[in-house]
Amino acid sequence: MSHLGRSTCRRAAALTAAMLALPVSAAVAGEAPSPQRAPHVFAMPVTPERVVVAIDAGSRDDLTTAVVQDDTGRVVGRTTLTASGKGLVPLSVATNTRQRVRVTIGNAVEPPAPEVSRVVVATTETAYLRTSSWRVVNKRTPLAPDEAPSKVEKVQGVPLDERAAVALRQLLERAKGEKVELYPSTGLRSYGWQQGLYDSYVRRDGRAAADTYSARPGFSEHQTGLTFDAKSRSGGCDLQECFGTTPAGAFLREQAGSAGFVVRYTEQNTKVTGYQPEPWHLRYVGQWLSGYLEDSGKGSLEDAFAMPPAPSYDR
Ligand SMILES: [Zn+2]
Repeated sequence: MSHLGRSTCRRAAALTAAMLALPVSAAVAGEAPSPQRAPHVFAMPVTPERVVVAIDAGSRDDLTTAVVQDDTGRVVGRTTLTASGKGLVPLSVATNTRQRVRVTIGNAVEPPAPEVSRVVVATTETAYLRTSSWRVVNKRTPLAPDEAPSKVEKVQGVPLDERAAVALRQLLERAKGEKVELYPSTGLRSYGWQQGLYDSYVRRDGRAAADTYSARPGFSEHQTGLTFDAKSRSGGCDLQECFGTTPAGAFLREQAGSAGFVVRYTEQNTKVTGYQPEPWHLRYVGQWLSGYLEDSGKGSLEDAFAMPPAPSYDR
């Protein structure tokens, strides 16, 4: 899916105008005015000790950089915004604490653009962490046994966090419209369920073998309820890497982002996640972040949040 960058749009408009030998304003006069979106900033906890500050310049395409300062004015992070005006600044925040930070969005060239300044609370407090749709679960960042989504809804009998359920229904509608056969096979799996599954694999194949194909309890993203595994009724490649070559796999790769999902384990990020590609395993993160990942070309949540790779359970 292509997100036309703002500068690309501007350049394209100028080019069209030049070709038509019209002033730019005349060339675009017939277009519906796009609604003005104000710059905004929000903060999301992603692990017990990390918060990510998200910056969105909205319709202000003169804003290209952001600087984050703590309460004392010390600069704790900065970023260059993507072509569509988005940026992420990861912060270390002690477990179960909060701090206020000031975000200043501006530009790095002369003349300086009128700046936008916002104060946000960066918190790792349990209630916020446990409901964060950006929560990272990987081989070095497990969930506690009692962590579970606060509100669960079923889609075709598959339980999910309600936010993921709403997004999945949209995605399935779109798939239906394109005559792509697609349905969810599993969603939320509790800690206890994962433990039973993993223990049975260990009894059958041994721990080393089980670790290559099953997550240990607490380390499965399915425990968040934000993840589902997709199947295609035509079968053949379900839960296999060749699923990516089926119409359902291609549909998910190209369109899951528009509903706020990302394919979590790809060929590109195997070294970071420690998982072989799983083109059927979709993680809900919301449309803001799925759009950012596409704009920025970041290949994983770990990369986007500047987290260390987590290829194995060993530290
Ligand atoms: Zn899965």
